[in-house]
Amino acid sequence: MNFDFDFIVIGSGFGGSVTAHRLTEKGYRVAVMEMGRRWTPENLPTTSWNIWRWIWRPEIGLRGFFNMEPFRHVVILHGCAVGGGSITYANTLLVPRDSIWQNGSWAGLAPWHTEMPQHYATAMRMLGVVENRILGPADRILKKAAEAAGVGETFYRTHVAVYEPAEGEEGGRTDPDPYFGGEGPERATCIACGGCMMGCRYHAKNTLDQNYLYLAEKHGARVFAETRVVDVLTLNGKPDGSEGYEVRTEKSTAWLRREPQRFTCRAVVFAASALGTMDLLFRLKQKGSLPAIGDHLGHRVRTNAESLIGVRIPRSRESMSQGIAIGSGIYLDQDTHIEAVRYPEGSDAMGLLATILTGGRPGRTRILLWIKTLLGSLLRHPIRTARCLHPFGWACESLILLCMQALDGHIDMRLGRPWFWPFRKTLMSVGQRVPTFIPQANEFACKVAQLTGGTPMSMVTEILFNVPGTAHILGGCPMAGSPAHGVVDYRNRLFGYRNMYVCDGSVLAANLGVNPSLTICALTERAMSYIPPAAEADWSQYPEERGN
Ligand SMILES: Cc1cc2nc3c(=O)[nH]c(=O)nc-3n(C[C@H](O)[C@H](O)[C@H](O)COP(=O)(O)OP(=O)(O)OC[C@H]3O[C@@H](n4cnc5c(N)ncnc54)[C@H](O)[C@@H]3O)c2cc1C
Ligand code: SF4
Repeated sequence: MNFDFDFIVIGSGFGGSVTAHRLTEKGYRVAVMEMGRRWTPENLPTTSWNIWRWIWRPEIGLRGFFNMEPFRHVVILHGCAVGGGSITYANTLLVPRDSIWQNGSWAGLAPWHTEMPQHYATAMRMLGVVENRILGPADRILKKAAEAAGVGETFYRTHVAVYEPAEGEEGGRTDPDPYFGGEGPERATCIACGGCMMGCRYHAKNTLDQNYLYLAEKHGARVFAETRVVDVLTLNGKPDGSEGYEVRTEKSTAWLRREPQRFTCRAVVFAASALGTMDLLFRLKQKGSLPAIGDHLGHRVRTNAESLIGVRIPRSRESMSQGIAIGSGIYLDQDTHIEAVRYPEGSDAMGLLATILTGGRPGRTRILLWIKTLLGSLLRHPIRTARCLHPFGWACESLILLCMQALDGHIDMRLGRPWFWPFRKTLMSVGQRVPTFIPQANEFACKVAQLTGGTPMSMVTEILFNVPGTAHILGGCPMAGSPAHGVVDYRNRLFGYRNMYVCDGSVLAANLGVNPSLTICALTERAMSYIPPAAEADWSQYPEERGN
């Protein structure tokens, strides 16, 4: 049979781009289906008030690259674009502590400690990771506050995928490709505008469309933008996919003319992110397209135990926007990690979600305490409180603190009909509540406020709905030794099918305690390293069962 492609990759984020590059390099014919749009410095929004180009909600005409999806347990922030989350992410690429490989369902499946370092090294080289040389006012405050809290020695500069100028040198210089011996695109040195999460308009951020995906396209991969995968079926009545697959798509940004298309291929790689892959696999399993997908789908979804808090410093003499999106971090204790985060000047829309920090136990009493704190603050310092609550100037005046904990804890996801909109099935979270605040992090925010004369802040969703926000949703397709315990095997192969892989955040089996994209890349590098070159193609790849 003549297949349209050897591999079809669903999603062009970290897992998808690594996959596309490594497979084209091995000589395979690859297509990448991506429901988001393609972005260039020319069409990126200048501030977050331009929500049409920032937020992704195509059903109401918003065609940006950033999405916020509310669930009962958590509000999930994620990217949606050619280049996946890399267009909106904060460039921070950290290697997690070794102990993560001893926890979760992947423990003991492979000699992770000896195998992973080489794949982390490759991913870091490809993404152009350096130790951050640009420290802004927010990083300097974080350092001072860490010293005041007695953990000054844990302060570190982040490792970031940014083309930075030499220490003390001005940014903005354009250079020929500095990373791939001339095969890659031109880059320009970073000007420290703090705009990384709004998309870099200065050619300095090493997004995936500047490295992995760029090289994949150069070597023949076809990227179909604004193309959502809606179905995947096995061919020729072979239920295990041994004779290939048909992938059905439609235009993701269309309201009426959805332009349905069908493509055939030998192998499929799901790389649509933890949320996107879970959603798609649930639908394929329920409608009978891929009924053998394991029953552990949607299990052990992790939020990286996060809390977003901050300090607003009205009339701050220095702009907190200066620097790169995440320039530095500290460890409050061995499990609690805090990073200094920023948005660029003028991108104040997120300020609409900020409110005065409130302690207390989650639930109704905390809401009452919040109202009391808010009223008390308004009575004692009316002007100052009003200045903290209105969004204008929020980015320049706010030191945002992203707190993550490497503690275990998870929720589950399933496809169901919510009571308030029973007309369509959607992903729903179930299980125990995720903690909405981390007391050590709140104490630290108060310390920063004391040092700077600012006001500690948190997210209104945490207080009102007892729901934390996270940009690091992981798991849902647990990696395990057999279908009795997980959804993919130790080489990312989907149990129940031949030549079918999952390569994205959904296979991560532990809370990393650090930002996850580097680990997603490194695990995908590892999965791809087991696939032979096209000339020796082995189309009988079937997941291995290894007990547990
Ligand atoms: C504001 C923000 C800041 C962040 N900062 C950092 C950071 O500094 N460091 C870090 O490590 N991580 C960061 N993250 C998290 C990081 O972006 C994600 O962990 C990472 O992108 C996940 O990679 P992935 O390969 O799983 O999927 P993604 O990168 O999310 O890519 C999946 C792609 O699949 C597409 N897709 C989904 N469903 C379909 C479908 N049915 N058909 C076709 N395409 C589909 C999506 O549009 C998306 O583009 C940040 C996230 C946000 C939102
Ligand atoms: S700080 Fe500005 S120039 Fe530097 S990488 Fe981020 S967006 Fe680009």
